[in-house]
Amino acid sequence: MNASKRPVVIPLIDHRSTTRLARHSITPTGLLTDQLARPLRDLRISVTDRCNFRCSYCMPKEVFDKDHQYLPHNSLLSFEEITRLARLFVAHGVRKIRLTGGEPLLRKNIEVLIAQLAKLRTADGQPLDLTLTTNGSLLARKAQALKDAGLNRVTVSLDGLDDVVFRSMNDVDFPVAEVLAGIDAAKAAGLTDIKVNMVVKRGTNEHEIIPMARHFKGTGVSLRFIEYMDVGATNGWRMDEVMPSAEVIQRLQTAWPLRALEAVSPGETAQRWAYQDGGGEVGVISSVTQAFCHDCNRARLSTEGKIYLCLFAHTGHDLRGLLREGADDASISSAIGHIWQGRTDQYSQLRASLPADASTGTPTRRVEMSYIGG
Ligand code: SAM
Ligand code: SF4
Ligand code: SF4
Repeated sequence: MNASKRPVVIPLIDHRSTTRLARHSITPTGLLTDQLARPLRDLRISVTDRCNFRCSYCMPKEVFDKDHQYLPHNSLLSFEEITRLARLFVAHGVRKIRLTGGEPLLRKNIEVLIAQLAKLRTADGQPLDLTLTTNGSLLARKAQALKDAGLNRVTVSLDGLDDVVFRSMNDVDFPVAEVLAGIDAAKAAGLTDIKVNMVVKRGTNEHEIIPMARHFKGTGVSLRFIEYMDVGATNGWRMDEVMPSAEVIQRLQTAWPLRALEAVSPGETAQRWAYQDGGGEVGVISSVTQAFCHDCNRARLSTEGKIYLCLFAHTGHDLRGLLREGADDASISSAIGHIWQGRTDQYSQLRASLPADASTGTPTRRVEMSYIGG
């Protein structure tokens, strides 16, 4: 790609000062809510902006090429910094932490971070729901160490079983068999509640829906079909490549009768369906066609310590500055409180009414998913 046409990637500069937000102190009670009365329950932590895959919908090769500038190591939060922030978020009500990236298993000694996070307890003394999303490429090697460190469960991304399709979607010629071996290793290591995420792109891998469902049905692994989203500004997203979840369910119903399941907890991203024959369940994540912003309880901590209040946000609130200026826990906790209390984000719900960005055709400039994590 011509350098002058290269889309703006990251970092987007945050002009808001976190210290300015800390006007009065907010003591954590575990009951923090935002402007739309949504609690803070789920923290996604991106531990690296690097990845060994080049999925076209996330880190297209033409943009994330050999000249792409990744964050220097000293910009990344250290494990101690991540754990300290996680503890403060947990005191405000977070119950679930998901490690993501980029590819989280590329972060050196990630199991050390997992061991630190596994020791945290919620305000009512419960262990966290600690999980990780990975492309599975290093899982066969790392599953046991992750489990031993205290990881409860894992989500593996896999966009098809057909080797040609999968190799082309990850765009680094990575074989399906190694990801499947990673899933087997996760099971063997004792990780439970394993999920597989498949992004469905119309015209690319929709013919993999039924083979994927057949493969995982009855195995205890729960498959989830994700609508291809307009995250970031580099993937050339087009609505006609989105396959609505309703259509995915229709296709599955032609092969196996399904029954809709009730949500277990508010803020769940997936709508779950059970196979009527007892073969387990599948889920759909309809971020584009059925917005679930009304009970979105997720915050995202970027690799360099900025808090993003929405997957589609274009600016983050810098917490690393506070950490490295020597702020005490009470000040950082207050800053987190103010940031969440001021939150009004509901991008997916408003998507259709937002003004379109002339360069992308989608509303506003946004941060890349590989930077803040999925
Ligand atoms: N590298 C890890 C992986 O792929 O699982 C973790 C990070 S990745 C950004 C997290 C999740 O976001 C993956 O399941 C991926 O498929 C999904 N994702 C990335 N870009 C997407 C897009 N444009 N639309 C929908 N899902 C996307
Ligand atoms: Fe990497 Fe995951 Fe993005 Fe694919 S979806 S490029 S594996 S970060
Ligand atoms: Fe949450 Fe933003 Fe997604 Fe809505 S668009 S569900 S607010 S992350």
